[in-house]
Formats: sequence, C-alpha cells, structure tokens
Amino acid sequence: MGERSHVPGVVIPIAPLTAGRTSTVDAVNGADLADLRAMRRVADRRDRPLHDLRISVTDRCNFRCTYCMPKDVFGPGYRFLPQDALLSFEEITRFARVATQLGVEKIRLTGGEPTLRRHLPRLIEMLSALRTPDGAALDLTLTTNGSTLVKQANALKAAGLQRITVSLDSLDDATFRAMNDVEFPVRDVLSGIDAALAAGLAPVKVNMVVKRGVNDDGIVAMAQHFRGSGVVVRFIEFMDVGATNGWRMDDVVPSRDVIAAIHAAHPLVAVDAQYAGEVAERWRYADGGGEIGVISSVTQAFCSSCTRARLSTDGKIYTCLFADDGVDFRALLRGDASDEDIAARLAGVWQARADRYSEIRSDATARSRKVEMSYIGG
Ligand code: SAM
Ligand code: SF4
Ligand code: SF4
Repeated sequence: MGERSHVPGVVIPIAPLTAGRTSTVDAVNGADLADLRAMRRVADRRDRPLHDLRISVTDRCNFRCTYCMPKDVFGPGYRFLPQDALLSFEEITRFARVATQLGVEKIRLTGGEPTLRRHLPRLIEMLSALRTPDGAALDLTLTTNGSTLVKQANALKAAGLQRITVSLDSLDDATFRAMNDVEFPVRDVLSGIDAALAAGLAPVKVNMVVKRGVNDDGIVAMAQHFRGSGVVVRFIEFMDVGATNGWRMDDVVPSRDVIAAIHAAHPLVAVDAQYAGEVAERWRYADGGGEIGVISSVTQAFCSSCTRARLSTDGKIYTCLFADDGVDFRALLRGDASDEDIAARLAGVWQARADRYSEIRSDATARSRKVEMSYIGG
C-alpha cells in the first residue's frame, strides 16, 4: 500500500493507523529511506504539509478552567498519567528532531500546564538546539496560564524560549476566579505577563477564550488594557474540545461580534496574514495602538490550512484537535526503532490524514467522544 508523495518518484507507505495491526518493520518496508530523508516535506490527503508540532508535556494543571478541566470530572479521584507513561525529555527531543526532517519548523509546548513539568527549561534547551534540514533554528514557543511566570520567565528565556502565549480570560477578578475555578487572582497572571516582558519573551500574546454570558462583557476592557503595550490579545471562540465541557453552539460568541465591539471603541483595520496557515485573523488599531487577533475555529473553520500535529504527554500523535484516538510512538521511541523507522511511521500517519472536523461540526458531532485538550495539548 503506498501513496505518492510531493516529491516526484518518491513513494512512502501509509502505515495502518490501528496500533498493533502492523509492526514498525511493516511501516518501513518499501519506503526509500534515502528519499525520505531528502524529501523534507510530507503532505496529507488534502495537500497540507506537516509544519507545526504541539507537544503536551504534562496532562496536569493547577487550574480547573470550567471549559477545559471541569472539577466534576478532573476532581481528586481523577487518574492522571503515571510518571513512567510520560515521554522523557530525550524521547520528546528525538521525536521532534525526526519531525523536523519531515518539515516541522515550529514547536509549541503546551499541556495541561507545561510550566508544571519539572525541569522544563532543560527540555527547552534541548529543543532549541535542534535545526531544520536547512540549518535554521526552530520557532519555539509555549502556552501557559501564566501562574508560574514570575518565578520561571527568566529561566525559560535563558534556556532558549523565544516567545510566549499567556491565557487570561478576564480582567475582572471575580469572573476570572470563577473561570479558573481555583480562586487564582488576575493580579498574579498580570505579574506573570510583566515578568515575561521583562525577560524579553517577545512578542507576548494573551489568549482569551470567550464564552457567551460568562466573560463576553469583558472583551473591550481586555483589548483596551493591552492596547499600546506591545502585547497582542487573541480572542478565541469557545470550542467543543473534549467530551466534558458541555459545549453548545449558543455559548459561542462569533469573532465578527468581537471585532465589531472593539471596532466601535477603537477603529480597526484588517492586516494580511504573515504566513499561510496562520490561525489568528489579525487586525490593527487604525491609530497605531498595536494589534489584536481573533481565532474563529467554530464560525470560520481553517481546516484547509491546518498544518499541526499534536504529540500527547504519553507519546501519541493526533492529527486533529478533535480526534478520538492517536497513534502511539512511545513504543517505537522505547524500542529498537531507528530514526528512519520513526520518520517513516510519522510520514505514513500524516499522509493518511484527512481531518476537517471544524468544517463539519454540529451540535451532534460536539457530543461525540473526543480526546481532552488538557491531555492532547491546546
Ligand atoms: N494551561 C495552558 C494554558 O491555559 O494556556 C496551556 C494548555 S491550554 C489547554 C491551551 C489553550 O487552550 C489555552 O489558551 C486555553 O484557553 C485554550 N482552551 C482550552 N479549552 C478551550 C475550549 N474549550 N475552547 C477554546 N479554547 C480552549
Ligand atoms: Fe489548565 Fe490551561 Fe486547561 Fe485552564 S485551559 S484548565 S490552565 S490546561
Ligand atoms: Fe485542524 Fe482539526 Fe482544527 Fe480542522 S478541526 S483546524 S483539522 S485541528
């Protein structure tokens, strides 16, 4: 079984996606490994290259955001992954190095709360030493709830982290505490953002998930707070990730309404995308006060340009945020597979990809079984 790649004459096998139905050797047989190495680009069934890798470094978090890890599911009895199930830093780095051979140029560390992973700066050091086949450094970033940045921002920067995204859903303390559900104060996240700016983790981006009737009254205040500061706020439509957040279409505030509200207070002008596949739609203040972004995963699906693979904490690759299962790579990383074996398997998984969940989303699909975002990484 084979699929023609984007390099004329190169055929890469598509490895069966059901774990256990094939061995590594099956996945590699028939692949021209020299061609695979030389190819440096692999595309899926919809011609989308593999360009971004999101790596979840822990499934744990010190917040219980109601839309992500609701307490009634992620309570004291919840069984998180045991330590030996987690990929080690060496395993993560090896996988990332292989992925760069297939076209990955951008890596985002996420979770759960990635800064809770012990010795995270060491992993950042290891990843920042990786190079693309052309010798370029990777675009390396991290998404965090900001709770540990006062302590960690300098160490993250020194380890080689370039920039950072901090999630903050409201500037209103009562609203924010209710959303994170652990009484975490706004003030401490703002101090974390200041620490990131002082450390030179630029640009700092702030993600605000907007949920109707919960925090949508704070959209303009959030924009105003960071206007002129160099911090770029991105407003994210509330999504039906996982199976536990009780998502309803009615809870989604369409990005066009977010833009209209901010535009009424401070006129906005659309900005062209910086690169193909950019997730956020960008807008700048007409008076030069900086820019904002909107991520319209629900009302304007961007599946056609989605180039992201996700590596879960325990080493499975998910080709879509809304997948219900992934493909295990931990066994390969812990067995005697070579880098070429792993590259061939990853190429096969990517070439078999046809995901377009956001294009076909409905209230019915929202109720289907999906993997949780805290495990797969946002
Ligand atoms: N704990 C870190 C944080 O909160 O930034 C990283 C992991 S978190 C899962 C990554 C991003 O996903 C955050 O910006 C979070 O707000 C966003 N997110 C989580 N659940 C979401 C949902 N249901 N809809 C939209 N965004 C969501
Ligand atoms: Fe934790 Fe981030 Fe999920 Fe909030 S969004 S519960 S901070 S992983
Ligand atoms: Fe990518 Fe899946 Fe989201 Fe579409 S639904 S943009 S394929 S992660």
